[in-house]
Amino acid sequence: MRDPTSFLATEYRQLVDADLDWKLRVLGGPSAPWCSVDGKKVLMFCSNNYLGLSNHPRLKAAAEEAIRTHGVGSGSVRPIAGTMDLHMELERRLARFKGAEASLVYQTGFAANAGLIPQLVGEGDLIVSDELNHGSIIDGVRLARAERAVYKHADSSDLERVLAAAEEHRPAYRRILVITDGVFSMDGDIAPLDRIAAAAAQHGAMVYVDDAHGEGVLGPGGRGIVSHFGLGRDRVHVEMGTFSKAFGVVGGHISGSRDLVNFAFNKSRTWLLSGSHPPPVAAACLAAVDVLESEPEHVSRLWEHTRRFKKAMRDAGFNTGKSETPITPIIVGESHRAKQLSDRLFELGVFALPIVYPMVAKDQARIRTIMNAALSGDDVGFAITAFEKAGKELGIV
Ligand SMILES: *Cc1c(COP(=O)(O)O)cnc(C)c1O
Repeated sequence: MRDPTSFLATEYRQLVDADLDWKLRVLGGPSAPWCSVDGKKVLMFCSNNYLGLSNHPRLKAAAEEAIRTHGVGSGSVRPIAGTMDLHMELERRLARFKGAEASLVYQTGFAANAGLIPQLVGEGDLIVSDELNHGSIIDGVRLARAERAVYKHADSSDLERVLAAAEEHRPAYRRILVITDGVFSMDGDIAPLDRIAAAAAQHGAMVYVDDAHGEGVLGPGGRGIVSHFGLGRDRVHVEMGTFSKAFGVVGGHISGSRDLVNFAFNKSRTWLLSGSHPPPVAAACLAAVDVLESEPEHVSRLWEHTRRFKKAMRDAGFNTGKSETPITPIIVGESHRAKQLSDRLFELGVFALPIVYPMVAKDQARIRTIMNAALSGDDVGFAITAFEKAGKELGIV
């Protein structure tokens, strides 16, 4: 009899043969500037832990304290018996930080996109999406019964064109949702949210921004892209983000009007039907908001390091694309070149992974570096030296 699971091994083998399988690197300790990766001490240069908060003493202390006072699990989903005072306090504090009327915390950012997008739009509606949006947005869009249109990456004139065409549609769309990443994670460029919001306003569309890579990075005190552009809440209706990147913990969230939050938690199936955060997670997220409010130096150091590193890479002759943020791609072309560079950097003591096809175009393979505020000036110098050396050896610069 045929083994009904034989495709598992076959498909995995195909990925391995094409060198498209994920090989996991194992950290033997915290995600810190110098960490142990597969047993080797290296400088971490590709984590999303922008501000070093995942190992910050105030977050760790808050998590330990919450275990003592509230235990390690919440006991339920939020709507039944899994809402603790810690969850409510986190949402109040996050809304204050964001300058929004209300916030709602989801288990992850992925769960926020997958749960909320299909509730905001449905049959008779239209979603207008940037062509390079994150996979969690793509999955959220797929779950929605709305029609879909795509505009060219970060191109507000093309968005205008799509919205103008949508006005001609008969019967008229009931609702239109424009959705974009705030910072695009492969190139480190920023969505022109001011122009996107203006175009949407002209056509009566809602605006949803996924600011996973902008929070803790852009705007005063790291408040994110909406505050970076100084946009009102009447212009950007859903500001979505995550606690798993600059905030250093885990969890998704949305901010906006009280009406948005009331609607979202009553309707998002991912929120209603999945267990809530353990107390140490909620407490650590709360401490992260606190640290962002009271220790602005992390965000300023992140930018100081970023400017220095970008300039050094450009001066050395590397192609850093159109990055404007602490995500700096080092674009080298062919996949095997990016892998060689990553391997050589690892030998030299810098951990930065290659990003290759199909995540980026075939001739756009790159090392994606992500700056970290917890690095010292010497650490940044160490990384620059390693890139220059490896780049020369491999004939990239
Ligand atoms: C990382 C990321 C997410 C997912 O966030 P999680 O909280 O880790 O699930 C969503 N959108 C974008 C743009 C991201 O970069």
